[in-house]
Amino acid sequence: MENILFLAFVEADGALPKAALEALGAAQQLGGSLTVGLIGAEVQAAANALANCGAKILAVSGPEFAQARYASDAAAAEAIARRSNASLILVPSSTRSARAMAGVAHRLGGRVDTHITAVAADGGKPNVSRWYYRQRMEAVVERAQRPWVILLESGCHAAYDGAPGNATVESVSADLPDSHKRTQVLGVRVPQADRQTIRPDAKVLFVAGAGWTKKQADGQVHGAEAEQLILGFLANSGASLGGSKSLVDQSGEGQAVLGFMTHLNQVGQTGATPRHPKGLSTCCHGEEPHVVGWRFINERRAVNLDPNCGWARSKADVLYVADAFEVMRELNQLLK
Ligand SMILES: Cc1cc2nc3c(=O)[nH]c(=O)nc-3n(C[C@H](O)[C@H](O)[C@H](O)COP(=O)(O)OP(=O)(O)OC[C@H]3O[C@@H](n4cnc5c(N)ncnc54)[C@H](O)[C@@H]3O)c2cc1C
Repeated sequence: MENILFLAFVEADGALPKAALEALGAAQQLGGSLTVGLIGAEVQAAANALANCGAKILAVSGPEFAQARYASDAAAAEAIARRSNASLILVPSSTRSARAMAGVAHRLGGRVDTHITAVAADGGKPNVSRWYYRQRMEAVVERAQRPWVILLESGCHAAYDGAPGNATVESVSADLPDSHKRTQVLGVRVPQADRQTIRPDAKVLFVAGAGWTKKQADGQVHGAEAEQLILGFLANSGASLGGSKSLVDQSGEGQAVLGFMTHLNQVGQTGATPRHPKGLSTCCHGEEPHVVGWRFINERRAVNLDPNCGWARSKADVLYVADAFEVMRELNQLLK
């Protein structure tokens, strides 16, 4: 039987992110003996949220562990892993965990696998699923080496939703190297809240294509209105924003079109493969290198003037042959 450690970093507000609850759900379903490991400035609130998950809770806490920093994060994760004597270490994937956990696996003499989308224990033997070659091939991987550190992507498992309670936390001390003092987070630069357009937990992915910046029936370009319609929809619906390569390339070249669109929004073969229950594509042709990025969107709809566009060729569940300006104007009215 595997000794499973679910390890997570606590947010600044003391809570655990949804991705962590998903990884805990996945860890529970594996069926071995389970330990919870928490790292952060304050961990009691997060531990209380997991009080009824049936596992012992270990934690490294204190002000030095508030910041995402390799030296302190790796030291904390290593200390918890050694105390728990884990053979499988399941961690929600984030920039913070991805930075630290490969080094932790090395220190423990183990192995690490990242970008895992599923874990299972067929006949008691754990295996993980991972996509390769730009999400074209899925492999199921087993390993003999232990400990095995597994970074689970978000949105791949139902989240743990047990009742909260009063948890007993066993404190673990981490051997903090002096080098941790070399890295201090002095501040955080983030886009304005209303410009934060990539929202991984959104129910809907809204994709804008280059058509928004093309001449319309009146022979004019309507960039300002396009921007207002798209931002209006995002604000009203809480959707996440994706873009086609043609559109984000235009923005990158400094043209005065859809200034909020960056390469981070690009969906497709050379872009992202986001996970949302539904997707709505507008003014985007639906060519294969773009649509390959829709692999994990369950229900797909598209608005395009062209009844012969790529979406019409079995790539969307519903294609509205319509003017996206008119459709979005109406939709925004309804959402208000
Ligand atoms: C190696 C390689 C990798 C690539 N990787 C990616 C990738 O990762 N992501 C990606 O997106 N592309 C990628 N591409 C490019 C891809 O093939 C297409 O060129 C790109 O997706 C086209 O973007 P688009 O559909 O927005 O623009 P266009 O092809 O210009 O289509 C614009 C669409 O808007 C419609 N339209 C215009 N006005 C309106 C209106 N008022 N209402 C409704 N519809 C309207 C038009 O009918 C048209 O279909 C890649 C290409 C290659 C060769």
